[in-house]
Amino acid sequence: MQTLLQINVLPEIAVHEHLLKQYLATELQIEEKQITGIKINKRSIDARSKEAKIFLDLTVYINEALPEKKNYTPEYPYVKNKPVVIVVGFGPAGMFAALRLIELGIKPIVIERGKDVRTRRRDLAAINKEQIVNPDSNYCFGEGGAGTYSDGKLYTRSNKRGNLKKVLETLVAHGAKEDILIDTHPHIGTNKLPNLVTAIRQTIINAGGEILFDTRVEDFIIHDNCIKGVITQTGDKIEGLATILATGHSARDIYYLLDKKKILIDAKPFALGVRVEHQQALIDSIQYHCKTRSEYLPAAPYSLVEQVEKRGVFSFCMCPGGFIVPAATSPGEIVVNGMSPSKRDSKFANSGIVVSIELEDFKKYESFGALAGLKFQQEIEHKAFLLGGKTVAAPAQRLCDFVDNKLSASLPETSYQPGITSALLTEVLPYHISSRLQLAFKAFDKKMYGYYTNEAVLLGVESRTSSPVRIPRNSETLEHPQIKGLFPCAEGAGYAGGIISAAIDGERCAEMCFASLHHRLLNK
Ligand SMILES: Cc1cc2nc3c(=O)[nH]c(=O)nc-3n(C[C@H](O)[C@H](O)[C@H](O)COP(=O)(O)OP(=O)(O)OC[C@H]3O[C@@H](n4cnc5c(N)ncnc54)[C@H](O)[C@@H]3O)c2cc1C
Repeated sequence: MQTLLQINVLPEIAVHEHLLKQYLATELQIEEKQITGIKINKRSIDARSKEAKIFLDLTVYINEALPEKKNYTPEYPYVKNKPVVIVVGFGPAGMFAALRLIELGIKPIVIERGKDVRTRRRDLAAINKEQIVNPDSNYCFGEGGAGTYSDGKLYTRSNKRGNLKKVLETLVAHGAKEDILIDTHPHIGTNKLPNLVTAIRQTIINAGGEILFDTRVEDFIIHDNCIKGVITQTGDKIEGLATILATGHSARDIYYLLDKKKILIDAKPFALGVRVEHQQALIDSIQYHCKTRSEYLPAAPYSLVEQVEKRGVFSFCMCPGGFIVPAATSPGEIVVNGMSPSKRDSKFANSGIVVSIELEDFKKYESFGALAGLKFQQEIEHKAFLLGGKTVAAPAQRLCDFVDNKLSASLPETSYQPGITSALLTEVLPYHISSRLQLAFKAFDKKMYGYYTNEAVLLGVESRTSSPVRIPRNSETLEHPQIKGLFPCAEGAGYAGGIISAAIDGERCAEMCFASLHHRLLNK
C-alpha cells in the first residue's frame, strides 16, 4: 500500500531516515517495520514560524517494496553528417540548444569565444589575484557561459513546467545530484558546475556535434535577408542552415555588430544597483529566529522587495554562505556578482540589491538609439572602476554610511578577493538609483529586523542583472523579424533571466529552428 503525506517536521527528523520512519509510524499509527520505503516528492524549508521546519511531500510504502528507480537517460542520435545549425555561445542556452538539436537529428556547430572550463579557471585566478580581465575568458565568457562559475541556483519563474523537468533531469543525467528534482529551491554550487558542463560537452562531441573554443564571432554572413553563417576573429567562415544566437547579456560587441549592420534591436528596461554583504550568522538568526542555526539547516537565504517612488527595489541572486566575485568582461569596468559552493559554508551572505530601470531613466543617452541602456550601464561600470582605484578592486561603503552619504572610515572584512576601496557610492550611482536604494535599505529592516547594520558592506556595481537590449523575434517562430534563419536566444536577446530559463529558451529555439528548416526543406 502507498500513502501520500505532507508533513512539517524538525530539520533533524528530515535528514535522518530512522527518525523520519519513527515519526511516520506514529503519524500513520502503524509499526515502524511496516514502512518499507519512503520517497520524497518535494522538499522545502518553512521558516515562517518561530522554529524552522522542513516541509516534505512524500509517498510512504507500507508492506510494499519501493519500486525500482528509473533514471531519465536522454538519447542522442549520431549527427556528424546531418544538416548543420550554428549555435553562437556555449552558456546554458547554447548547451541546451545544442543538445535539443541533436535530439532532433541536426548537427550543432557551437562557437564559443572563451576557453574550455579547465583552462578558463586560470583566467579567473588572474582576475582575482593579478587584476587582469581577459575580454574573452572571465566569469561570464567561456565554456558553460556565465552559468559555470555562477551560484547554480536553479529556480525559475518560467511557467513551462514540462521543459523545466526535462532540463533538471538532463542536468542529473550529466552528474547533478538528484536533490535538484525535489527541492523547491534547487542549488548546485559553483564547485560542482564545471564537471557538469564538461559532461555536457562530451555528450555533444560523442553525438557528432562540434564545439569550437577560443572562437569569437565577429560578423554574420547574410544574403537576401537570410543568415548563411558567421565569420570568426580569424576571418574563417562557418556556414549553417540557421544560427541560434545565444551570446548572453555581456556580449556588447554583438549588440554593436547588430546595430552597425542595421539589424533591428531595441533598448529595454533592466535593473542596476549594488551587492550587499552581511555575516551569514546574522542572516541565519533573523531568518530562523534563533541565536545560532541548527546544524541540520542550510545557510539561510532571503528575498526582499520594496516599491520606492514607482520603481521596484529588490534582492537579486542572493547567495547564502557565498562569495562576491568580479564579473567584469573588459578592462576598465567594475561589475560584481555572487556565487556559493554546494555546501554554502562561507561565513558571508551576499545579494544584489537593485532598482528597476525604465527607458525614461536613461533618456540622456537616447542619441545612442537601441544602445542607450547599454551606454548608461557601461558608464556606471566605468565610474566604479575609477572610484575603486582603477583595478578590479570594488568601490565599497558600509550600509548605514551609504544611507547617511558618509564615507566609511574603515571597511569590514569581505569575501571579495580583489579587494575593496572606501568610496561614496552616490558618486558612482545616479541619484534616481542611489536615493531609492537608501530608502529601500531602511525599509528592509522592517521586514528583516537587524538587516540594516553598519557591519554590512555594499560593493558597486551590480549592473548585469539582465540585458539592456532586446533582439526582437517573432513570438511564435522565434525567428528575427528581419533576418531569416536567425534565432535570438535567451538572456542576451532579452528572453531569459537565469540558468534554467536560458536553458529552456535554448531548447525552444532549437525546436523552432528545426520546425523552420523542416518547412523550408519541404517547400524547396
Ligand atoms: C557570478 C554569477 C552568478 C550567477 N548565479 C546564478 C544563479 O545562481 N542562478 C541563475 O539562474 N543564474 C545565475 N547567474 C546568471 C546565469 O549565469 C545567466 O543567467 C545564464 O548563464 C545566461 O545563460 P545564456 O546562455 O543566455 O548566456 P551566457 O551564460 O552569458 O552565455 C553566453 C556565452 O556566449 C559566449 N559569447 C559571447 N559573445 C560571443 C561571440 N561573439 N562569439 C562566440 N561566443 C560568444 C560567451 O563567452 C558565453 O559563454 C549568475 C551569473 C553570474 C555571472
